[in-house]
Amino acid sequence: MIYLDNAAATRLAPEALEAMLPFFTENYGNPGSIYSMGTAAKRAISDARESIAESMGARADEIYFTSGGTEADNWAIKGAAKALAGRGRHIVTTRIEHPAVLNTCRALEESGFEVTYLDVDRYGMVKIQDVQEALRPDTILISVMFANNEIGTLEPIAEIGALAGEKGILFHTDAVQAYGQVPVQVQELGIDLMSVSAHKLNGPKGVGCLYIKRGSRLRSFVHGGGQERNSRAGTENVPGIVGFAAAAKRAVRIMEEKTAKETALRDYLTERLLTEIPGSRLNGHPKLRLPGNVNISFPGIEGESLLIMLDMQGICASSGSACSSGAIDPSHVLLAIGLSEKEARGALRLTLSEENTKEELDAAVEKVKECVFRLQEMRKPGDSFLQ
Ligand SMILES: *Cc1c(COP(=O)(O)O)cnc(C)c1O
Repeated sequence: MIYLDNAAATRLAPEALEAMLPFFTENYGNPGSIYSMGTAAKRAISDARESIAESMGARADEIYFTSGGTEADNWAIKGAAKALAGRGRHIVTTRIEHPAVLNTCRALEESGFEVTYLDVDRYGMVKIQDVQEALRPDTILISVMFANNEIGTLEPIAEIGALAGEKGILFHTDAVQAYGQVPVQVQELGIDLMSVSAHKLNGPKGVGCLYIKRGSRLRSFVHGGGQERNSRAGTENVPGIVGFAAAAKRAVRIMEEKTAKETALRDYLTERLLTEIPGSRLNGHPKLRLPGNVNISFPGIEGESLLIMLDMQGICASSGSACSSGAIDPSHVLLAIGLSEKEARGALRLTLSEENTKEELDAAVEKVKECVFRLQEMRKPGDSFLQ
């Protein structure tokens, strides 16, 4: 099995698992209780909060644990909309956001908010000038993702943060793909709200956090007991939070080495596929992209068929976002960067980890070539299969 779908899910780091285990087996007390088993859990959460805050240049009381990236995106956008509706009802985002942002914005449109969905250039990059021109006196929120999950493009976050700060508009970024992969410092970048998910950085699934800059008054998102400073009620996912912090610590520790390794592997894989499969094209920015992201379109094939054939050969890959696999719609991200529907359907996303080897990639290239050529062959007019 060759796993090349690390943008969808990652292997739990052994040190994260090890950190989590005692909170299933021995320290299972409720962090809200006053006996020592409970206070041990409470302390573990507060240590986790400290270390995650430190990793992004935030304060501990600016970190709110959630059930993952999707919940953090929902909270940031709906929370900001609700808190600021008196000031305005206009939101600026992009066409290439994750569905957790796009569908949240669509839901708000149904309750009277107006949303501007910015175009991106052919590399998937938002232009700062477009952000500036979209702003209105009633704009209350800018939400632009840090790095795109399908094509890996890194957005000009520092520039958008500076602009938002200058105009006094709240700035949210979905950093689920970026945090743990590239340096992310909320203060330096002018970020007010930031979504993070543990399972994209070798942590467990079902946990993440929302960074809320001190002073940005967001409404509480889940009502109930007083957890997360009365903002997000529900007994804390103690093992998840502990595993998240351990994974984040590891991600920061190995970042430099991981980036160097993945970038070299990424460029090698890209180069081979582009030169050995005629007519193929790279989607996303050639340089300003996540270290482990490769997204290539092949002419005359269906990405879904390619994925099924690759799976039979022991290769785990994606055609874009995991959420849209299974659905037949072409990727909204690939359409936004100017691909035709047909081209968008022929895309393959391979996302690497620092554990992948050159040998694995060589084997994957051979399998991809074999499958793409076979699919293209089947498509040729006169072929009995499709007549
Ligand atoms: C995976 C992902 C999410 C969703 O995070 P979950 O923790 O799976 O809910 C949101 N945004 C982006 C960019 C992602 O890649």
